[in-house]
Amino acid sequence: MNIHEYQAKAVLKDFGVPVPTGYPVLAAGEAGSAAAQLGGPIWVVKAQIHAGGRGKGSFKEAAAGEKGGVRLAKSAAEAEAFVHQMLGNTLVTVQTGPAGKQVNRLYIEEGSAIEKEFYLSMLVDRATARVAFVVSTEGGMNIEDVAHDTPEKIVTFSVDPATGILPQHGRRVADALKLSGDLAKQAERLVARLYAAFVAKDMSMLEINPLIVTKDGQLRCLDAKIAFDGNAIYRHPDIAALRDETEEDAKEIEASKYDLNYITLDGTIGCMVNGAGLAMATMDIIKLYGAAPANFLDVGGGATKEKVTAAFKIITADPAVKGILVNIFGGIMRCDVIAEGVIAAVRDVGLAVPLVVRLEGTNVDLGKTIIRESGLNVIPADDLDDAAQKIVAAVGGTAASGAAASQGAH
Ligand code: GDP
Ligand code: MN
Repeated sequence: MNIHEYQAKAVLKDFGVPVPTGYPVLAAGEAGSAAAQLGGPIWVVKAQIHAGGRGKGSFKEAAAGEKGGVRLAKSAAEAEAFVHQMLGNTLVTVQTGPAGKQVNRLYIEEGSAIEKEFYLSMLVDRATARVAFVVSTEGGMNIEDVAHDTPEKIVTFSVDPATGILPQHGRRVADALKLSGDLAKQAERLVARLYAAFVAKDMSMLEINPLIVTKDGQLRCLDAKIAFDGNAIYRHPDIAALRDETEEDAKEIEASKYDLNYITLDGTIGCMVNGAGLAMATMDIIKLYGAAPANFLDVGGGATKEKVTAAFKIITADPAVKGILVNIFGGIMRCDVIAEGVIAAVRDVGLAVPLVVRLEGTNVDLGKTIIRESGLNVIPADDLDDAAQKIVAAVGGTAASGAAASQGAH
């Protein structure tokens, strides 16, 4: 689960991490009082969306002005004006994709006088099963570019959970950032506090870019991005309350209510499959025959008719879906349950696109009979290969010469 920058900074502040003072603006009417609470001389107005690259981003609407999603204002009045320009408009950054994201919240902060910009992030390193730090003197820019162009400027190390964070870890960060004296001490304190926050709140990723040294010699987190381990959210109601569903995919939210494993993708073929492995194989074979999946969906092993109906409705409600492939291998999941779920959903919401159904396994004959006798316009398929070719052909793909087409597509 992701949260906004202003929320991340509030979480970090609770652990004693130095962040600039700021006030969120959730509605236009709050802009004036938020700006007035800061003394200047510089105010920073920052678009709050779950995507980075805001500073270099641009708005789709002319009314939002020429500047990006992070703006420096010289007065409270100018800060307020920036809020009104940005609020409700669409910010496009390298991370949002071309569609951009609507800015529904802003953050007004006291401006910092920047001496140096660094990069610091923490993540759970699966290979070592430890929390790892990634540090670089090259802050404020895309860390992927630094890793590509000057990998020697990135320092990484991990923390043994048996010892926890030690002074030596702080010193390593200070060394990597070439800090000495009081700034090195500040770095040691910062590292210990970030680690405490990371572990206490079950974070999976924490990125400070940039971490800055101010002109008056203070180490400070100027930006903060936090992702939490979704499987641990249940033990942090304070974090769960920070969720902003407007930043998430509506179809994924709906799917999560039914405990479906659903991820939106950018193709045209809606997939309903049981089992993650079969779902991956189904997506691969759709690609092999020249089309692309609109989603990953694993309805799970013991899905009920209600769950299948919900899944089918989520797929059919997606305007990007030009055809649907139901691919079920009945083990614990019975083919007749799938068939009934699909039929119930079609009766409810109709079917405007071609539907190919491949059933195999437990109660397969009953499942096929249910679909045949429903009178629905379903294209039956014998196996995975046949099913993929049929749905790709039905949406106007190139299934007939699938293998050849796929070579061209890759
Ligand atoms: P991002 O573009 O989404 O990563 O947003 P950031 O919060 O990292 O801001 C982008 C850039 O704006 C930073 O790298 C800084 O260069 C600049 N910036 C942000 N806050 C301040 C500030 O208080 N003072 C100054 N001078 N620049 C700032
Ligand atoms: Mn940043």
